Amino acid sequence: MRGVVLHAPGDVRVEDRPDPVINEPTDAVIRVSAACVCGSDLWPYRGIEKLDGPTPMGHEYVGVVEEVGSQVTTVKPGQFVVGSFWASDNTCEICRSGYQSACVHRVLMGTIGTQAQLTRIPLADGTLVATPGMPDQDLIPSLLAASDVLGTGWFGAVAAQAGPGRTVAVVGDGAVGLCAVLAAKQLGAERIIAMSRHASRQRLALEFGATDIVTERGDEGVAAIKELTGGLGAHSVVEAVGTQESMTQAVRSTRPGGHMGFVGVSHDVALPGDELFFSLVHLHGGPAPVRQYLPELIDLICDREIDPGKVFDLTLPLDQAAEGYRAMDERRAVKALLQP
Ligand SMILES: [Zn+2]
Repeated sequence: MRGVVLHAPGDVRVEDRPDPVINEPTDAVIRVSAACVCGSDLWPYRGIEKLDGPTPMGHEYVGVVEEVGSQVTTVKPGQFVVGSFWASDNTCEICRSGYQSACVHRVLMGTIGTQAQLTRIPLADGTLVATPGMPDQDLIPSLLAASDVLGTGWFGAVAAQAGPGRTVAVVGDGAVGLCAVLAAKQLGAERIIAMSRHASRQRLALEFGATDIVTERGDEGVAAIKELTGGLGAHSVVEAVGTQESMTQAVRSTRPGGHMGFVGVSHDVALPGDELFFSLVHLHGGPAPVRQYLPELIDLICDREIDPGKVFDLTLPLDQAAEGYRAMDERRAVKALLQP
């Protein structure tokens, strides 16, 4: 089968790789219908995250089950399935409390690679959720979004306690930030402020439910949020970047007693204790337990209530994956969908 391998920073190749097989009785093998490039794939692509030799890439996926191990009972060959970027058993105490991304048996899909024609899914019963029947072709991008960016944006909005009567500010206009806007809208937020300086991303944020756009960043961005919220700051802030600047901006944009959900993968961020102490902000974040939200998100997508697939503004055959990475790296594309 063909699959994406990152050899060195900037060196994306699509190669012949061995077909995955059932290693454990709890595994499934799926034929990938669509995969995509994640903002977090850009960290090793840019050389910021160290590579340990040639690495299969990708952790977002939807597809059709090809084969299951002898202990798999909840999905069967021929079903269309969506899974999270963490494989999880969905039965341990941490999973049952809603934190499948910290499952005691978790496996990071990025270590297997889903930007490929086939992929192996560990802990298939806990990880995969089947759609009701074979979805219409036009729903596939949205279902793929549920695999990571939508689920992650959703967790950010939930962690920030977005809801009725609350003003939500979203720091970051990548696919996750845009999906956090969509989630805040679905969760009933009264006002949603998207922070973006790119016209096309602003348009999508407005389409997803943003009521205000702030183009300033850093201290000026914080001042703009305060100005829109009577000097208090937002009730709910979602941080969807993971840099020092965005985290600082998010903490300072949250009002005392407010909630901040941080879902951008943190890179070299340090927050001063005294600032946190005096902020009186509730902080919650980390790798999103997407699996918790999948059944609900799949229903919303299949009922055509939400259309998160709009974050994909570039679709390429798998063999042109390198161009998908380049376009996202240069911010020419919000998110690239790869068709195996
Ligand atoms: Zn678990």
